[in-house]
Amino acid sequence: MNEHFETRCVHAGQSPDPTTGSIMTPIYQTSTYAQPSPGVFKDGYDYARSANPTRTALEANLASIEGGNHGLAFGSGCAATSAVLQSLRSGDHVLLCDDVYGGTFRIYDKVFKQFGIDFTLADMTDDSAYAAAFTPNTKMVWIETPTNPTLKIIDIAAVAVATKAHGAFLVVDNTFATPATQRPLEHGADVVCHSVTKYIGGHTDVVGGCLVTNDQELHERFKFMQNAVGGVPSPFDCFLLLRSTKTLHLRMERHCQNAMVIAKHLQGHAKLGRVIYPGLDDHPQHELAKRQMPGFGGIISIEFKSGLDGAKRFCENIKVFTLAESLGGVESLVNHPSIMTHASVPADQRAVLGITDSLVRLSVGIEDVGDLIADLDQAMG
Ligand SMILES: *Cc1c(COP(=O)(O)O)cnc(C)c1O
Repeated sequence: MNEHFETRCVHAGQSPDPTTGSIMTPIYQTSTYAQPSPGVFKDGYDYARSANPTRTALEANLASIEGGNHGLAFGSGCAATSAVLQSLRSGDHVLLCDDVYGGTFRIYDKVFKQFGIDFTLADMTDDSAYAAAFTPNTKMVWIETPTNPTLKIIDIAAVAVATKAHGAFLVVDNTFATPATQRPLEHGADVVCHSVTKYIGGHTDVVGGCLVTNDQELHERFKFMQNAVGGVPSPFDCFLLLRSTKTLHLRMERHCQNAMVIAKHLQGHAKLGRVIYPGLDDHPQHELAKRQMPGFGGIISIEFKSGLDGAKRFCENIKVFTLAESLGGVESLVNHPSIMTHASVPADQRAVLGITDSLVRLSVGIEDVGDLIADLDQAMG
């Protein structure tokens, strides 16, 4: 479709159901399909691990909003990540951004390393650092931008050029930005990966993942793994996610607006050191962020001058925000990375990445921004 992003969020992949005219794509809660003759399937549907019409609609919708030709949905972001790694071979090497999502690091380090897939962590904001990290066996580069929780911005176009020069392919985990604010395929990435558990789902009620690409060959490899290894989502979760993407553009607009107002309010606060938000002028990659992402997202990280004590007290006192892992839902959350989401990252590595005990991550929701600011102010005392 050539329609604008907002129209594709609402419609892509979906048309009224041919049996009843049902506007909403039905939940095809079936595991198998009748065959008129052995080996003859209607529209390619033979068994629901291989294909399901609710999933087909979701996959087409996700592909369209990311600007890709091919979409695949998975039962979690980690299942999507694993399908990519399963398509590599023993002896292949991967270049990973150094502050990659902890669960992604665990898949590389604890699952695929033992099968001979090697990896190197590199600071992907520093082109000389990552240029030196390629090896003759580097088949894939895997980045996230903005990164979690320090919100570094990686230049997708520059990394794509370096990746292609080494004959590898580039995967961008676009979970934090979403296609509403950043479309990596337009910047030269080969594959986009998501935990749709976060902003794409947006209502904190589904775990899921997806892969989108324009590369037919990569798509075939991932699709083979989706079916062969079987990390597929349920028809009900696909239905919920189709409902979610219809409002992605509206939700992200409000997440970005609220986060910008809050970041400016917190900047220079007497109790805080760094306020990290890609939309602020003092963010180290602010100019790159402006070029690469038309909206700056809903995540802000803040550092308390009073260290762990101050950060903990804030997390205990907050009321409209909820202290919880995860992010990207309509409701505002706070997270203490070094004790919660990033506890499994070794302390020395946390120090290198700037994940101090005084750092708190805010996932700014779509509530009234005045209420959120009043809550932040009261919790800081
Ligand atoms: C949550 C997350 C994942 C993992 O996704 P799940 O849906 O939890 O399996 C991967 N990447 C990023 C950036 C995430 O935030």
